[in-house]
Amino acid sequence: MNLCDIREVRALLGRHGFRFSKSMGQNFLIADWVPREIAAAGGGDGTCGVLEIGPGIGCLTRELCRRAAKVVSVELDPALPPVLAETMAGAENFTLISGDVLKLDVPALVDERFRGLTPLVCANLPYNVATPILKALIEAKRFRTITVMVQREAALRLTAKPGTGDYGALSVYAQYHTRPEILFDVPPDCFLPAPRVTSSVIRCRVRETPAVSPACGEEFFFRTVKAAFALRRKTLCNSLCTVFGSRLGKDGVAEAVARCALAPAVRGEALGMEEFAALADSLYSQCN
Ligand code: SAM
Repeated sequence: MNLCDIREVRALLGRHGFRFSKSMGQNFLIADWVPREIAAAGGGDGTCGVLEIGPGIGCLTRELCRRAAKVVSVELDPALPPVLAETMAGAENFTLISGDVLKLDVPALVDERFRGLTPLVCANLPYNVATPILKALIEAKRFRTITVMVQREAALRLTAKPGTGDYGALSVYAQYHTRPEILFDVPPDCFLPAPRVTSSVIRCRVRETPAVSPACGEEFFFRTVKAAFALRRKTLCNSLCTVFGSRLGKDGVAEAVARCALAPAVRGEALGMEEFAALADSLYSQCN
């Protein structure tokens, strides 16, 4: 069965009485070059175990099974396992887990299922929960690369550089843990049903050690980053005051900023990773 032939797909879904769910972000790929290219970019080889989130009817899953030693796919929609039993019949390196990936113990799953293999993620993510899923995958600290399709907007935010409109706390978070890059765009007509937005495939190479190592620790570092972007149109000092003002006062925050040789009128979006690390350490020593 060709899972990218729209007539065959409609017939398959009709036989199973399947209805698309918007709330589960269901837009299935129907252009055969897309799953092929995604798997080629991030599906690894016979030394790899691949975790896929949301196999849908299995068009990307099939491509992954052709390349990797093992593929484990997690699917939330209880209507899809019977469809996958048909489309993935005979794929001996494939395992389906029914459930919500956000409720799974991902590190335990990887340790249990991918012993002796290099773990990777390759998936066309449900767009409405792409960011929490991506964060859970990064925080699992198990994967060499995470290759996913997301809305183009999200891809731009994840890869944005300082001083650009897309740059924000999510960019710093992603780039602290990984080296994200946009690989290619996918237009709406490659999906059934067609989404309203363009999609992009990104590959995040997970860093062995984070991009910076502030003495204040990771939790305080990200508290600082979040505070710096809290009021995007205001100065860095004013934005930081939303979180640190009650403890340090406006003058204390200004002093911590000045100690980093940052101009008083600078905005959070101008700061790079090293500057955020220095700022977090400066605020931390002011607080303690
Ligand atoms: N991989 C298929 C493709 O490319 O055609 C389907 C991708 S579709 C964009 C997203 C898939 O993720 C759907 O099958 C949906 O049911 C599933 N999904 C949504 N939320 C999920 C969650 N929290 N955990 C696991 N799967 C989820």
